Amino acid sequence: MMNKSKQKTTPQTTPQFCAFCVLGTKNLDYQDTRAYQKFISSYFKILPRRRTGLCMRHQRITAEAIKRARFMALVPYTPK
Ligand SMILES: [Zn+2]
Repeated sequence: MMNKSKQKTTPQTTPQFCAFCVLGTKNLDYQDTRAYQKFISSYFKILPRRRTGLCMRHQRITAEAIKRARFMALVPYTPK
């Protein structure tokens, strides 16, 4: 019983590193939609940190940029 729940979770084998920390990006422009395109799911949701692999600081910056882009109608809120 206990083993079944443990088998569902896959262990993180590859080490994750922040894509923006590697590039040395300090802040993200919401107008640059290509920069954060891969951090949005197919349903235009902001991907969680466990999926993006970003650090806490850059995850917040990215989420803020996506939210601003949504407000400015650069990125849709929902699929059609
Ligand atoms: Zn980072």
